Amino acid sequence: MSEPRTLFDKIWQSHVVVDRDDGYTLLYVDRHLMHDGSAAGFARLRAKGLKLRRPDLALATPDHYNSTAGRTLADIPDPQHRHLVEQMRENTQQTGVRLFFIDDERQGIAHVVSPEQGLTQPGVTLVCGDSHTATHGAVGALAFGIGSSEVTHVMATQCLWQRKPKTMRVKVEGTLGAGVTAKDVILAIIARIGAAGGVGHVIEYAGSAIRGLSIEGRLTVCNMSIEAGARAGMVAPDDTTYAYLHGRPLAPQGAAWDRALAYWRSLPTDAGAQFDREVTLDAAAIVPMLTWGTSPEDAVAITDRVPDPSSAPDAAKRDAMKGSLEYMGLVPGTPMDSIAVDRVFIGSCTNSRIEDLRAAATVVRGRKAVIPSWVVAGSGLVKRQAEAEGLDKVFLEAGLQWREPGCSMCVGMNGDTGLPGQRIASTSNRNFVGRQGRGVRTHLVSPAMAAAAAVTGRFTDVRRLTSGG
Ligand code: SF4
Repeated sequence: MSEPRTLFDKIWQSHVVVDRDDGYTLLYVDRHLMHDGSAAGFARLRAKGLKLRRPDLALATPDHYNSTAGRTLADIPDPQHRHLVEQMRENTQQTGVRLFFIDDERQGIAHVVSPEQGLTQPGVTLVCGDSHTATHGAVGALAFGIGSSEVTHVMATQCLWQRKPKTMRVKVEGTLGAGVTAKDVILAIIARIGAAGGVGHVIEYAGSAIRGLSIEGRLTVCNMSIEAGARAGMVAPDDTTYAYLHGRPLAPQGAAWDRALAYWRSLPTDAGAQFDREVTLDAAAIVPMLTWGTSPEDAVAITDRVPDPSSAPDAAKRDAMKGSLEYMGLVPGTPMDSIAVDRVFIGSCTNSRIEDLRAAATVVRGRKAVIPSWVVAGSGLVKRQAEAEGLDKVFLEAGLQWREPGCSMCVGMNGDTGLPGQRIASTSNRNFVGRQGRGVRTHLVSPAMAAAAAVTGRFTDVRRLTSGG
């Protein structure tokens, strides 16, 4: 009888082209996502006189540099940014890559668009020149971000050299409380294992609380695997996955669907398979979370206080905490729910899907935003769905801005940034120094928590707004 294998092992082994003596493996790549930062990859390909090997396995969509104020090139104020987006159109036209351009309703953040289209599927290997490619592991894909020279390598060969990572299983068992979302789960996981806790590993998220999440929730969890240092994050495909994918435009259809389904059902980790590391969290102990510092591991419960560096386990950590608190303008011991917020951003590949927008709308419905607040849907199709449900009206009546899709204030490459010193409640995935603009103080939260901050002007336990408590 064959050895029990993990989900990761099954996908890895079925994509090996060749193993090298130095420990590197050449892996076949099933999907290559491209965004508006891919111009350098195309330029290098041309400079080497090479052709794109499998344009049919690629999908391109601008997300970093496009404007969220409008969907035309003229809406992009910076000529360099406009040029990058234009170049994307030229490069994809010349090579035959499928493109969802800014005037296409299917355009959006690559990590939102690909699952939405059904291109991200269980068992595939998927790469993108972007750190948050792990998002796609939510449907049982092996997906990771690659560097720009690797992008060119994949363009030319449809393969990639990789060292085989170790495996880690993070189980979240039990039932999540009211008002506790996938974002709180992943922030709690990273707070527990640390920003370097997953280094060298692929994480499989498992346990009843993970199985109970929608695909949108699983995408949120896997999205932040890189913030725990992991190479990738995955969730085993199940009936929730199949129901999500069925009928999507780029998912298999007809007899191909039946064949795919039979394969997908063989992928979940076998009973008895060994992981290099296992961690278990109690779902019932997780409450709405937010970050206080400049690393995603600096996450605490909304019911907590700003931590005191004197409690740090060593001098290095103490100094890092002091530096973070200084940048963030926070005093140890301050109740987290007393901290005033200047601005709210609801969006990014972590939290800009329809379920995220519904959660935010539930909180702001019938209330008024007291600070500038943006809602940026992850794709044109998410935006259309939200409008069909009347969510845009809920946001607009509450005084929030309803923007066009893109990365926007997650990273501010398109000019959507905060001002120095501003404190932002953000549903994105990185709270690094300067991530949302020079001197901007980013606190990572769920969409519901961001919405609660929008209508109260400070961090607020969303459970108080939604349960009347
Ligand atoms: S939304 Fe943010 S994290 Fe996601 S792809 Fe865009 S810039 Fe990267």
